[in-house]
Order: sequence, then structure tokens, then C-alpha cells
Amino acid sequence: MKKHNFSAGPSILPEEVFKKASQAVLDYNNSGLSILEISHRSKDFIAVMEEAQSLALELSGLSGKGYKALFLSGGARLEFDRIPYNLMKVNGKAAYIDSGSWAAGAIKEAKIFGDVTVVGSSKEDNYSYIPKGYTIPEDADYFHCTSNNTIYGTQMQEFPETNVPIVCDMSSDIFSRTIDFSKFGIIYAGAQKNIGPAGVTLLLIKEEILGKTGRTIPGMLDYQQHIEKESMYNTPPVFATYTAMLTLQWIKANGGIENIEKKNNEKAALLYNEIDRNSLFTGTAIKEDRSKMNVTFVTVEGVNTDAFDKLCKDAGISGINGHRSVGGYRASIYNAMPIESVKVLISVMQEFEKSFK
Ligand code: PMP
Repeated sequence: MKKHNFSAGPSILPEEVFKKASQAVLDYNNSGLSILEISHRSKDFIAVMEEAQSLALELSGLSGKGYKALFLSGGARLEFDRIPYNLMKVNGKAAYIDSGSWAAGAIKEAKIFGDVTVVGSSKEDNYSYIPKGYTIPEDADYFHCTSNNTIYGTQMQEFPETNVPIVCDMSSDIFSRTIDFSKFGIIYAGAQKNIGPAGVTLLLIKEEILGKTGRTIPGMLDYQQHIEKESMYNTPPVFATYTAMLTLQWIKANGGIENIEKKNNEKAALLYNEIDRNSLFTGTAIKEDRSKMNVTFVTVEGVNTDAFDKLCKDAGISGINGHRSVGGYRASIYNAMPIESVKVLISVMQEFEKSFK
């Protein structure tokens, strides 16, 4: 039986993407060859890379606006290093908000390169909200934020107005909602939540912000090199990029980000309503910052969770345990998660509540 997969990542992808990707492993486009055994320089794969890049720019509304899309390896974490390397001037500084463990990871790496000002942090409150009301120093080389905090279930609802280039880690909510992507200097996202399997990272880079640091940047770390070589400076993660392309095609065919956002709003509203209604559960993020991608909740004090865990298991629910660092529950309801699976989880929560009465 296919499970209801609430995993935080790698996570659910659309069924039709799984089908097309597995067919391409056996025989790509009736070529008699697997996608896994063709050169990344072949006409067939270059077409994949070009389509993936152009879909990413099209979906984000950035085509023709001075942005380049890259599909690179190394995970979102490599960008924690590549960003300061490419944007922080020698003796320069950067501003970060500390809204979760991934943001803190990015801050730690940036400190290797230079002066980092943490303009806001919610660490003291276990990252249960998004820091607000902060000031970004005008002389910062860039400002870094994390749009969605995968572990804590909080999401930025708005982005600051500033002349400083904004860099955003959108790993866990990219293409899940309509936002003005042109506000950002760099957007990056590990693919393994909303846009593909693990192994590839999407970057959307406003080209004019590069080349200002005065640093010598090693080739693999240099965004300009990757741009010049169209994501083929080294062998790209071909299968992950292909599967990401299929997922971007799926987003487009399903009415684009606008339509996906409507569905995401519906799913999140259903689940948060149940958390707020059900006497056995409470949400862990403050309401105004709740994430529509990662819904974090705990049982109220004194409730033994074994029976709930068993009900989930029996209903085919998979992957709702909270991150190992925080515990509780986390239902990740990314773009590809069908509303039916959310309804199954809700009915299990209701059954659990009834068993207490
Ligand atoms: N940023 C965020 C917001 C994440 O959720 C994750 C992974 N879950 C990362 C960065 C790290 O990504 P990767 O494992 O691809 O390096």
C-alpha cells in the first residue's frame, strides 16, 4: 500500500514524476539508453538542463530580468559557504537573521569569511517565531534569511525592504506560494522537498550582484564560473536535475505556483484547524508565523503518544515524527502532498481524541 508520506525531506514527489523518472531510467525518450548512461554533454541532456533552467526562471517570473538559474550539487549547505565567498567583500560584513538551526548553520559558516551581524534571533524561544522589527545595516554586503524553518515550522510572511541584496534559503518552501522573487539577489533551495530528489540545488542569481568581493574564488565555489558554463562546469547531478525538471513541468501543468498555493493554503488550514480544535494537540509555532509546509505540533501534557503512533502506523501514515533535535510531531505537507493524505491524518487525530472520552 502506498503510504501517506509526511516526511520533511527527502520527501514526497508527484506520482507522475516518479513514473516518468523511472521510465527514463529504463529507456530515455525511446533512445535505447537510460538517462543514467548518457553524457551530460549529449544533446538530450543539454535539452533537459536548458528546460529545467528556463522553467525555474519562468515559474519565478524572473525570465528576462537579469537572473540566471543554476542546478548544482553540494546541497543547500554548500551554499552556506558559497554565498559569503561570492558576496562578502574582503573586510566586509553581512547581516543574518537567526530563525532556526539551518539559519544558525549558515551564520556559523559566514563567520569564517568575515564580520557577521545577527540582526534578529528567536533562539531563546526555541525558534517558535520569526524575528521581526530588525534593522539591516546599510553597509552590509548582503542580508541572509531562511524563508521557511523546516525543523520548527515557522515561515516568513514578508521580506524586508532594503537596498542590501537579499539572499534567501528557500529549501523548504520554494515554489509553494506566490512571492515577488525579484526582491532577492540570490535564492537557493536544496531540491529534496518541493522540486525534486536530493542531490541537486536550485539557485536563482541576479548576475549583477556578483564579482564585487575582491576575493579570488576557487572554481567550484565561484557562481560566475557555474553561470558561464551553464551549470556544466563539472558533471551536474544528471538524474536529480532531470527529476527536478519533471517536477517543475508538473507545477506548470497544474496551474503554476498560484494554483499550488491555493491547494497548500487549503491543506494547511485544515490541519491547523484540527490542531487548534483537538483537545489533545497544540501547535508549537506562534500562529502568525505558522508554516504552510511543515506543521509542527505536540500532544498536551500527560498524554501517552503510543496509541496515536499506532493509529498513524495502521493508517499508513509515514514520516510525521518531529526532527530529532525537537521531538513532537511534524507533518510536512509540501506541494506534492495530496489533500486526501492530510484528511487521513486529521481523521486519525480525531479517532485518537475519541479514544480518550
Ligand atoms: N536549509 C533548510 C531550510 C533545510 O531544510 C535544509 C535541509 N533540510 C538545509 C538547508 C540543508 O540542506 P542540504 O541537506 O541539502 O544541505
